[in-house]
Amino acid sequence: MGIPRFWRETPSRYNLIGTKCGNCGMIHFPPRVVCPSCHRKSIGKMERIHLSSQGTVVSYSIVHDAPHSFKMQKPYAIAMIELEGCCRLTAPIIDCDPSEVKIGMKVEATFRKLGEQEKDDVIHYGYKFRPARSER
Ligand SMILES: [Zn+2]
Repeated sequence: MGIPRFWRETPSRYNLIGTKCGNCGMIHFPPRVVCPSCHRKSIGKMERIHLSSQGTVVSYSIVHDAPHSFKMQKPYAIAMIELEGCCRLTAPIIDCDPSEVKIGMKVEATFRKLGEQEKDDVIHYGYKFRPARSER
């Protein structure tokens, strides 16, 4: 099986890439090599797919005790986000005051800060979310 066209043409760092299990159809993020529910049956059947960059906040918490590299940003909100038509992930919410984050808020993925990770920081996020245009 060849590499899907979108995979070759689009730099992955500007997209949320997940995997879809060819056995049960479950979508995972971050991408997995083996489906957690099908195990061996999914080997060789995992397909990389683009995930929607649009999502909805389903829960969140405000982080006050931020690690060193987040010093300039604290407090900040970490949200559980339901991506449109696929799965849930956890990501920081940027471009708004943490007190403005609420359940049901529409958010979109943004990749601007990628590459600013510090070596000794345990938390590595390649993606963040910000309020969707309709919410601003
Ligand atoms: Zn599966």
